[in-house]
Amino acid sequence: MPAKIIDGKAFAATVRAQVAEHVTKLKDAHGITPGLAVVLVGEDPASQVYVRSKGKQTVEVGMKSVEHKLDAETSEADLLKVIDDLNNDPEIHGILVQLPLPKHLDEDLVINSIAPEKDVDGFHISNVGLLGTGQKSMVPCTPLGCLMMLRDHHGSLSGLDAVVIGRSNIVGKPMAQLLLGDSCTVTIAHSRTKDLADVVRRADIVVAAVGRPEMVPGDWIKPGATVIDVGINRLDAPEKGDGKTKLVGDVHYESCAAVAGAITPVPGGVGPMTIACLLANTVTACCRANGLPEPE
Ligand code: NDP
Repeated sequence: MPAKIIDGKAFAATVRAQVAEHVTKLKDAHGITPGLAVVLVGEDPASQVYVRSKGKQTVEVGMKSVEHKLDAETSEADLLKVIDDLNNDPEIHGILVQLPLPKHLDEDLVINSIAPEKDVDGFHISNVGLLGTGQKSMVPCTPLGCLMMLRDHHGSLSGLDAVVIGRSNIVGKPMAQLLLGDSCTVTIAHSRTKDLADVVRRADIVVAAVGRPEMVPGDWIKPGATVIDVGINRLDAPEKGDGKTKLVGDVHYESCAAVAGAITPVPGGVGPMTIACLLANTVTACCRANGLPEPE
């Protein structure tokens, strides 16, 4: 049987519709409009695309969107001042600093200067600690989106063997924590892992977050396993015409789809869920700030 294609685009549309419904309720019943501020430093083209997309979708679900575009040369003190102002702005419930930051800025310092309750990316050290100890936190958007798709497909994840390839702070590690929280048996693989193919072959769930185009071939996948491809890699695509490019994931889609039980495509899988979860986190932060019940 061919793998079920997990349609992240459709799933994300459902999440956004739920967010929009909650935003309407907050406005109608409480006169509150959730607000999301995105801070972009410099002119990284990919970051500019993400920020534009985040702003557009924030407005589409009825929330307030604020963008701070700062010069690439912005000093750390000036950036921290912008964050401090947003921390103290009662109309802003979520703050996101687009990464990567220019080299002269200390990323950890900047992220940890965001008020933890407004840290909708879930990267603040307090949120990392809360997640690691199983307490209520802000959960990083990409792994949260992956978890939602996995829960939707499997129902319970309890007892399943999960392998996460990649140990970054923004994807691999929080993904592993979330899977552990759902009672998977979790292995985190990385560039020093021995016999990666054998490790991946044990998995009922494979989450690939490596940043290497089509690195995972189909013969690493246990028949029937669920494959979540976080990777976004842009490759030249001369077959589409001169200068054209295409996006591929970290897994080799055709060969993995031939063996897997379910798989997320690239594009149209994890990517759209990430922004939808950012919007959902902002509503959650807004509800918490106002002592109101959080969305399910
Ligand atoms: P990082 O570069 O921070 O981390 C990559 C991880 O992959 C590292 O832990 C590294 O190991 C590991 N790795 C590298 N090479 C190998 C290898 N040959 N075998 C096994 N492991 C390896 O990347 P991110 O976590 O930030 O992102 C991963 C991918 O996900 C990228 O393609 C990125 O574009 C994409 N992404 C997609 C998002 C979305 O919304 N869909 C959001 C965020 C990221 P080590 O630690 O040993 O170096």
